[in-house]
Amino acid sequence: AKKKAGHQYRFYDPEQQHKIDFRMRLTQNIRQAISQRQFSCAFQPIFSAEKRLASFEVLARWHHHELGAISPAQFIPLLEEHGLIGYLTQHMLDTGLSQLALWRQQYPALQLNVNFSAQDLVDPSLCNRLSERMKHYKLPHHSLIIEITESILIQAGTSAVDQLNQLAKQGFNIALDDFGTGYSSLSYLDTFPVTKLKIDRSFVQRIDEQQQDKLLPAIIHLAQDLALEITAEGVETHAQYEFLKQFGCERYQGYLFSKPLTAFDIEGTAWFQSKQ
Ligand code: C2E
Ligand code: CA
Ligand code: CA
Ligand code: CA
Repeated sequence: AKKKAGHQYRFYDPEQQHKIDFRMRLTQNIRQAISQRQFSCAFQPIFSAEKRLASFEVLARWHHHELGAISPAQFIPLLEEHGLIGYLTQHMLDTGLSQLALWRQQYPALQLNVNFSAQDLVDPSLCNRLSERMKHYKLPHHSLIIEITESILIQAGTSAVDQLNQLAKQGFNIALDDFGTGYSSLSYLDTFPVTKLKIDRSFVQRIDEQQQDKLLPAIIHLAQDLALEITAEGVETHAQYEFLKQFGCERYQGYLFSKPLTAFDIEGTAWFQSKQ
């Protein structure tokens, strides 16, 4: 029988079907991935303007024995959908903090950046649990940088804001991730207890030798006025680094310096061994 709905007459699209099948297989495997601890950590270094090691961002990796390496862009939303992201955050935190404790023996001021989701901020015991973990690893609260996105601030509502205020009061650092990609209402920069800004890669990519970008210096100056420390993400070229440095950008992350690496690989790099 004929029906009005357009989708009834959709052609069979093998590529689309493949995507749907793949997503279904991921969904089937995601719980097992959590329970069997299939997620691992990659660490990407973040450097100061003088190219001194300042921090590591811990990034989730999922390698499935049949499906292969799956991108965080695919599995993070899936974990969020199924209410499982908290388990991943916990795993990233524990693995990251234990590495940090170890690496701080060599780099006493080293910090760790961890990505948090909206669901993580809903948990009322978050602040206490975090404090307990820091104590366990004998780490000062300021050595942890909690990365949140603009969308969390918009969606999450008052409980999340209370939560962030509590975390900030306890001395944890809060960084606004992917700055410039979301709603970019600058008003909340003053309202929320954010102490760091991470400028999204898409802004950094706009820098090239020919064209002088005016927006980026303006953002940097604004952040400086609000006493927010700036990290540039996705720095891939010397030209980008020089441009950002000239405007006083404080921290740098990107392939120009290093890709995300395993803890083992980091300990083998020249820049990690030849400290100072
Ligand atoms: P993000 O937080 O913005 O992390 C930076 C992403 O940019 C990483 O991708 C990193 O590998 C990539 N990247 C770093 N430098 C460069 C560069 O110079 N050029 C280019 N083209 N890319 C660069 P990745 O690891 O694929 O992660 C993607 C996103 O997945 C992350 O974006 C973050 O939003 C999310 N994610 C990753 N791990 C976690 C996690 O443990 N928890 C949560 N909630 N989200 C995570
Ligand atoms: Ca991040
Ligand atoms: Ca980011
Ligand atoms: Ca990003």
